[in-house]
Amino acid sequence: MTPRSADTATNGSGLDMAALFTRHADDRGALYARYGNTQLVRMLNTLGYDVGFCRGEGPYLYDRDGTRYLDLLSGFGVFAIGRNHPDVRAALKTVLDGDLPNLVQMDAPRLAALLAERLLANVPYLDKVLFGNTGSEAVEVALKLARAATGRSRIIHCDHAFHGVTYGALSVTTGETFRQGFAPFLPDCVRVPFNDLSALESELARGNVAAFIVEPIQGKGVNMPADGYLPGAASLCRRHGALLIADEVQSGLGRTGRFLAVEHWNVEPDMVLLSKALSGGFVPVSAVLMRKHIFDKVYDRLDRAMMAASTFAENNLAMAAGLATLQVIDNERLLERAAATGERLLRALSASMQHHELVREVRGKGLMIAIDFARPRAFHLAMEWDLIEAARPGLFSQAITIPLFADHKILCQVAGPDSHAVKFLPPLIVSESDCDWIINAVDSVVAASHRVPSAAWSLARTFMSNYLRS
Ligand code: PMP
Repeated sequence: MTPRSADTATNGSGLDMAALFTRHADDRGALYARYGNTQLVRMLNTLGYDVGFCRGEGPYLYDRDGTRYLDLLSGFGVFAIGRNHPDVRAALKTVLDGDLPNLVQMDAPRLAALLAERLLANVPYLDKVLFGNTGSEAVEVALKLARAATGRSRIIHCDHAFHGVTYGALSVTTGETFRQGFAPFLPDCVRVPFNDLSALESELARGNVAAFIVEPIQGKGVNMPADGYLPGAASLCRRHGALLIADEVQSGLGRTGRFLAVEHWNVEPDMVLLSKALSGGFVPVSAVLMRKHIFDKVYDRLDRAMMAASTFAENNLAMAAGLATLQVIDNERLLERAAATGERLLRALSASMQHHELVREVRGKGLMIAIDFARPRAFHLAMEWDLIEAARPGLFSQAITIPLFADHKILCQVAGPDSHAVKFLPPLIVSESDCDWIINAVDSVVAASHRVPSAAWSLARTFMSNYLRS
């Protein structure tokens, strides 16, 4: 059947995707709204984000006029090594050109073994790796294995956690935006406040806990653990025979300046979940790293050899993307670089934001940073804030991201539904001048938001009306 958008672009021997992409520059929104997510297209149009990006390179995106944008969203953390890295691309080409036997299934996949070996070299206290395709899939595998390995059913998770949107993952994710309408969830999932060891201890003490799953730094909000929290949680889990699962899907692979974020607190979890950056931005992949005793408890008989089978999990392109990405992280010393750049950015933003009364806090680790806004004291500002926030909590912060994009060509996001934090998740390769770009832009937009009346507040009001109308 011929597609209704009616064309193919050929390069002689097959489809030319770049030509196809270019040919649909003008009807891209209409086409996607018709066959895909209509609300996303509405949102892009309402917020002014529909600029028709044409190209990505390193930390930058380019629109159809050739205007350069600094990407602090990184595809939700996927582009740690930047977009279209030539080394990963070259590695993937060797797979495509090599006629390798892919997904034989009745064969020991060599690239998967090599990627597992390389990952475990960075996490030497863990022994085994199971691969998947997405972060959520890694969470599903971890929850299943925790229950099977311990023979217990309860899973403890944190308030404000985000672990994905498949059923198991959603059962340990909070946030009504993600959960509304999808109940009932997995039974025996128990929520405790983040950073509250005594709440964790009382749930552990009630018994039957298979695992505590936690993001070392929570992605929704960039919520930082108190210094003793993760080590305390690790020792409580050990004492009560529960497994500690660190969801490092977002915080892992150098994002915070260490290979894993838990390293900042010298914590050694029983399972570590990785995804996003491991893809190199090219091929979806996820990994569950774990202790041998967990693995052995589940993979204990010949007839259970295929138990966590996921058809595409160890495909050659994904494994190659992972291997090449880890090589780039080493070659370009991205852990050190993220630590140094992050520290500079955090220090500069903290200094420039400290006198702004709409700013509550600048926080983060490495290149996972948030500016958290709060209701100001000054009467004229507080009135504006109340008006906007009455429509929906977090709208003010949304209104900060819009001029960052429109006027300063910086792509970023609010740190989660109802959050007052604007979040920066830059590629780990951002330069000194990119940091200056961020610091100057943020300073200018936040300073403008302290003037009333001003374009910043009228934008916020327009945004509020659009929101209410929708
Ligand atoms: N865990 C964490 C900490 C995440 O940030 C995410 C994605 N934002 C996930 C799990 C789910 O990953 P995916 O969207 O690939 O399923």
